Amino acid sequence: MLRRIDLHWQILIALSLGVAAGMLFPKGTILPGGVQPYAIFDFLGSTFLRALRMVIVPLLTGSIISGIVGVGANRGLGRMFSKTFAWYITTSLMAILVGLFLVNLIQPGVSGHEAVGQRLGLSETPPELAASLEGRGAGDLVHILQRMIPPNPVAAAAEGQMLPLIFFCLVFGIAITTLPEDQRKAQLGFWSSLFSAMMRLTGWVIMTAPVGIFGLMAKITAASGFAAFAPLARYGLTVLGALIIHAVITLPLLIFLLGRLSPRKHFRVMAPALLTAFSTRSSSATLPLTMDRIENGAGVSNRVTSFVLPLGATVNMDGTALYECVAALFIAQAYGVELGFGAQMLVVLTALLASIGAAGIPAAGLVMISIILDAVGLPLEGLALILAIDPILDMCRTAVNVWSDSCGAVVVARSEGEEQVLKKDY
Ligand code: ASP
Repeated sequence: MLRRIDLHWQILIALSLGVAAGMLFPKGTILPGGVQPYAIFDFLGSTFLRALRMVIVPLLTGSIISGIVGVGANRGLGRMFSKTFAWYITTSLMAILVGLFLVNLIQPGVSGHEAVGQRLGLSETPPELAASLEGRGAGDLVHILQRMIPPNPVAAAAEGQMLPLIFFCLVFGIAITTLPEDQRKAQLGFWSSLFSAMMRLTGWVIMTAPVGIFGLMAKITAASGFAAFAPLARYGLTVLGALIIHAVITLPLLIFLLGRLSPRKHFRVMAPALLTAFSTRSSSATLPLTMDRIENGAGVSNRVTSFVLPLGATVNMDGTALYECVAALFIAQAYGVELGFGAQMLVVLTALLASIGAAGIPAAGLVMISIILDAVGLPLEGLALILAIDPILDMCRTAVNVWSDSCGAVVVARSEGEEQVLKKDY
């Protein structure tokens, strides 16, 4: 029976049931027989996340290496590289500018000519946040490039460090393309069958997504409820409004204009991945689904998929970039600090860099705001303001991050002359 319902409907139903279950059984509820619903939610959600994480490293490795070896390094790789990066940077900047405009228009940090900081209890910083911020700051950015080079690629894989792993696979793939034909073929055979096996395995994990997503949503609702978010409603709505404009207007317009593709069709194909991004709050954990949808759903070649998506999952984060900018300006407003044009441009630039440097994991963007606050000289304590509402905004911005990656993949594929993209009946 379940088989007949499309995966995105299954996930949507699971998501709603999860929210309902979480509200019905808040954290701490003990049912007769000592059953703790929260523990069950936690078990289902974290088992699903483990399974997703299980496939990431071998899937990525197989995909990138076989993608590059299959293409051959000098046949248009550089061109695809420039297009992909142009997409990453342009869309992130567009997202930031939408955020900048709305936060200046709505001024969520000001209520009736008064900065809201004190009312929201600005002088306290939870100790765990202070600890996680220690040692972070502008210096982080300087090292982003350097950190891409793994001193030990096996350790990078074992620790799940995505950027260094991607970097290694890229250069390793390029090296293989320079080998004599027989050696190159042998390598290609190995890596592409590894990739096919991992895609199969990923398909199996995806089948369990509804159950896992039920658990994740139930857990988050059971733990936080919705009451904590009320005082921050205007700020939250500003972020949401900007995310919606970017996701519903800017990106669809770009795929229509640049790729001559139907954004509607593309959305339908991507829905399961977007819902998974929403509930896992992690672009990296969603990557297997994103790749599956782009390759098996939208019909993009492995060559483009394996180049645009793995890199995009950590580097291209439109939602996070936008969020960084709105959050930093909200904090400034809440402190009653007026940021002039120059300072706001500094926020735009650091928001872009922070989004590039943020890992594709839950709450990564929250920690990265410290870089911006540092750059414009605002106290880190301001982060305490936006903590309560972060999980919800994290869900939304992660979905936008994945949406932008997927739009980039179809646009780059079209620009590479791929006619079959989104051509099936959906
Ligand atoms: N959770 C986001 C992601 O994985 C990153 C962030 O916190 O903004 O895409």
